[in-house]
Amino acid sequence: MNDVVLTGDRPTGPLHLGHYFGSLANRVLLQDLHPMYVLIADYQVITDRDLPGEIRRHTTELLLDYLAVGIDPAKATIFQHSAIPELNQLLLPFLSLVSVSELGRNPTVKDEIAHSTQSAVSGLMFTYPVHQAADILFCKGTLVPVGRDQLPHLEVARLVARRFNERYGQVFPLPEAMMGAQPLLKGLDGGKMSKSRGNAIALSATEDETAALIRKARTDAERLITFEEERRPEVANLLTLAGLCLGRAPVELAEEIGDGGAVTLKRVVTEAVNEFLRPIRKRRAELTEGDARRILAEGNERARERAVRTLEEVRVAMGF
Ligand code: ATP
Ligand code: MG
Repeated sequence: MNDVVLTGDRPTGPLHLGHYFGSLANRVLLQDLHPMYVLIADYQVITDRDLPGEIRRHTTELLLDYLAVGIDPAKATIFQHSAIPELNQLLLPFLSLVSVSELGRNPTVKDEIAHSTQSAVSGLMFTYPVHQAADILFCKGTLVPVGRDQLPHLEVARLVARRFNERYGQVFPLPEAMMGAQPLLKGLDGGKMSKSRGNAIALSATEDETAALIRKARTDAERLITFEEERRPEVANLLTLAGLCLGRAPVELAEEIGDGGAVTLKRVVTEAVNEFLRPIRKRRAELTEGDARRILAEGNERARERAVRTLEEVRVAMGF
């Protein structure tokens, strides 16, 4: 089968190393092999927060992050939810295919609710995975590079596709998740590295910002550095981060650091991260907001054409 890749992020802040090792690195590889759609999920921002005034800036920044890591707009279609009404219209038939209790059981929805800063949970939060099914299925996506937190959502997308096909005839292929080298990178506080939890190293962070963030990361009092994920999660997390950036095993790095303690560990991590981010920062500095706007306009147009065709197919299948 010829795969179609679909993946995306919410414009809620700068992309971080978790995105890179969870999903972006795979995207850069996959764009050479398959048609690829990259979604800037702007409508999903209002799932769990008030639409920030800086949504446009976040959107532009997200696009610049994509280009900086090497996503090539000549190969990939980068687009926004808000520009593709036909994609959002798929929500209607899709919502009728899942039950309220199925949505309520979704562990990622539960986790997002736990971290929400809003006083009440919005209806959009419950329909989040169904919206995501529309994101994936509008382009008949089959391969979805995501982090581990997205697996329950992907199950919903498969469920929706399967039930739609059963009820109305074969329209959608069943999408598969594709996890990266690090499906769940932890942040500097030990929780999932997230844009909105203040624990992330952004791909656009300067050298000094990166150093300051790592300096503040928690460690423990033992001088001898060892890689023990259960017993010493904070130290293990820093070693993992450095290992990913250097393409080396964390155990090996621990042995080299030996009894250098937290100070040496943090120096090694800071150098590794800064070295890794150097070419990404350099590419980003060469880009302008004008580039971003032009690329997005082109991507929106291409994605919309695709969505129009799928929606038409859906309406025919449903007998409208
Ligand atoms: P927010 O805090 O606003 O939800 P986020 O950091 O969780 O932001 P998303 O835009 O929700 O980022 O996620 C985009 C993609 O990146 C998803 O595929 C998600 O699985 C992946 N991802 C996010 N954080 C990590 C992480 N720490 N490790 C691996 N993958 C991640
Ligand atoms: Mg998230």
